[in-house]
Amino acid sequence: MAEVNETEDREVLKINIMMKCDFKCEDCEKFFECNDPMREKMFRRRRMAGAIKKMKGIKYKVAISAGKGGVGKSLLSTNLATTLAMMGRKVTILDQDLDGSTIPKMLGIQGTKKLQYGRKGMIPATDDLGLGMQVVSLGLIYPDDVITLFHQMRRGITEEFVANVDYGERDWLIIDLPPGTSSDSCNLLQYIPDLDGTVVITVSPKVAQLAARKATLLAAKAGSRVLGIVENMSGYVCECGEEFSFLLKGGGESLANELNVPFLGRIPMDAQISGTGDEGVPYVYKYPDNVISKNLREVALKVEKMVQEGKE
Ligand code: SF4
Repeated sequence: MAEVNETEDREVLKINIMMKCDFKCEDCEKFFECNDPMREKMFRRRRMAGAIKKMKGIKYKVAISAGKGGVGKSLLSTNLATTLAMMGRKVTILDQDLDGSTIPKMLGIQGTKKLQYGRKGMIPATDDLGLGMQVVSLGLIYPDDVITLFHQMRRGITEEFVANVDYGERDWLIIDLPPGTSSDSCNLLQYIPDLDGTVVITVSPKVAQLAARKATLLAAKAGSRVLGIVENMSGYVCECGEEFSFLLKGGGESLANELNVPFLGRIPMDAQISGTGDEGVPYVYKYPDNVISKNLREVALKVEKMVQEGKE
């Protein structure tokens, strides 16, 4: 981070006043483009300081992103987190998909558990699988209500979730971003400048690739390392174990090649996969020996290796 002395501070202040910059960096639409050294300073001084403090006990923070809805982002977040927890890691999932908070449902705790308040802030809910996974989600506050969230409310919720949760000591924070490149994603990426990386999920068709490309570029623009791309609905696994590919396949890998980022792996289709989400038992937990679970274990190991090497 750039060191800024007081004289420079005053000069920058004068220039920014002339440019009508009010230093409300956390609300500024130019945040990712701005090179002003005061940006980090003002932002850190204000809200980000809380997030840094609350998250200091988390070793690795990785966001899961998708260019559009319905491509399996929350499925990947839930199953990647479960895979890591089954490998003995302490995992928390932060559900930043404010309009589609499905993680509690996919873990079977929606309607049975709520976020509580303790002395050090909000206390995440814990899974019922005995894996010690923790969840922070709007679905644990308003499980069934329709809440219309306007811009400042959305930012306020993000702020609560990053700066007012008692995260404690954790190995992983898996963040389920909302689909697309909306302000909810930008808010989150602003608050966690030391994110260890972003994983992007897509399906194969070119239309989906276009949206995934934008999500990948947003992560890079926000300064997050793009750890790679996962391709969902890639081929079909029959109940007999045979794999067929009657749908498009290979789009995730070609996008990864085009953007020069790693291709992390494939999630084939499986008749049971959406049922496990409805049932509230993650696929990798219920079918640990299936090809999808094996592929996701490989994705988890690759991601873990990359973030560990990134810290060295
Ligand atoms: S991000 Fe840059 S332009 Fe925006 S308020 Fe901060 S210093 Fe000013």
